[in-house]
Amino acid sequence: MVTAIIAAGGVGTRLGAGRPKQLVRLGGVTILQRSVTAFDRCGRVDEIVLVLPPALAGGPALAETPAGTPLRVVAGGARRQDSVARGFEAASARGSEVVVVHDAARPFCPPHLIARTIDAARRHGAAAAAVPVQDTLKQRSVGEGRFVGRTLARDRIVQAQTPQAFRADVLAAAVRLGRAGVEATDEAGLAERAGHRVALVEGDPWNVKITTERDLAVARGFVEETMATGRVGLGYDLHRFEAGGPLRLGGVLIPHDRGLVGHSDADAVCHAVTDAILGAAAAGDIGRHFPDTDPRWKGASSIALLRSAAGMVRSRGFAVVNVDVVVVTEHPRIAPHVERMREALAAALGIGPSAVGVKGKTGEGVGPTGRGEALEAHAVAMLDAAPAAGE
Ligand code: MG
Repeated sequence: MVTAIIAAGGVGTRLGAGRPKQLVRLGGVTILQRSVTAFDRCGRVDEIVLVLPPALAGGPALAETPAGTPLRVVAGGARRQDSVARGFEAASARGSEVVVVHDAARPFCPPHLIARTIDAARRHGAAAAAVPVQDTLKQRSVGEGRFVGRTLARDRIVQAQTPQAFRADVLAAAVRLGRAGVEATDEAGLAERAGHRVALVEGDPWNVKITTERDLAVARGFVEETMATGRVGLGYDLHRFEAGGPLRLGGVLIPHDRGLVGHSDADAVCHAVTDAILGAAAAGDIGRHFPDTDPRWKGASSIALLRSAAGMVRSRGFAVVNVDVVVVTEHPRIAPHVERMREALAAALGIGPSAVGVKGKTGEGVGPTGRGEALEAHAVAMLDAAPAAGE
C-alpha cells in the first residue's frame, strides 16, 4: 500500500490577494487541486492524505480526486515537518509500506516521476527527486561574506524537489528525529540525519515550487502554453469471428469456442483504444505504427502494442486522462470480464483502473455483430498536455 502525503499546511499569502497560495488558480484550477490530481491519476497511490492549515481543514472540501483515490484531510502543524508528521500519523495507522511526500506548491509533477520515486524508495529505503543546478555556485568568504570564498563543484550539487518517497520505517525514524527537535526543510534531510541513505531520482525542470509572484507568472505562462488544452480521440475496430478460441479482449483471455481473426492477436478492444490515444495526439494510427505487412507484428500481443503507443503519446508531451470503450458482440457476455479488462488496459496506459471504462453491448440480432459474425469495439480517449520530460 502506498500513501501520498500532500503538504499544504502553510498559509503563504504572498500570492494572489491574501488568499492562501495553494488556492490560487492556474488555468482555472487551483494549485492544490493540480497537485492532488497528479497523484490521483498516477495509478500508483492507494490513498492521499492532504495536510491543510487548521483553519481550512475543517471547512468545505478544497480538492477532489476524479480518478477515485480515497482522500483524507488532516490539520497541519506549525512547521512543514510538523504537518508531514501529522499526515504520517494518519497514514501509518493504515499500514502503508511506502509513503510519498509532496509539496502542494509543486502543481506540475509528472506521473512518471511519482512512480520512479516510489520504485526507488522500495529499493533503497528513501528517494528524492532532484535536478541539476544551472548557475555557477559560489560560497561566500568567511567574515562579512562580501567576497567569494570559493567556487563549488556544480556537477556534484543538485536541487532537491518533491516527491520524496520513504519506506514507512524510514519516514518513522525521520519524523521521530523531527519531533526530538531536529529541524529540516525536507523529509529527506531528516532521513539523512537519522542515518538513512537517500537515493536521487532524476526530477523534472518544470516541477517547480511556486513561491513568488515571478514563479506564479512563469507557471501561468506554462499552463497557457501546454496544459490548457484537453484533447479527445476516437478509435474503432472490427474483427471477424472464426471457429476455435481463444478470444483475447482488452489484454484478457476469455474462454470462448470462437476467436477473432487478424494479423496480430486480433484484440479489437486494444486496437480501438490504441487508435483513440494516437488519434487524440494526432500521432497517426495503429496501421501506421504497427503495419500488418510487417512480420514483426504477426501474432503480436496487442496489449504490448497499446503500451508502446501510450509511450509514443507520452513522448509527445501528453498524459492519458481517461478512456472509455464499448464492446459490441452477441457472444460471449462482456460483463464478467470488465474488471480484468479495465485493469489490464489501465496498466498498459500507465493510469489507474478508475480512469478506464469498459461496457458491453449486443448487436440485437441484426448486422454482422448481431448475427455473431464479428465483434466491434469503439473507444474514446482524453489526453491532457503534460510537461514533456523524461520518457
Ligand atoms: Mg484490429
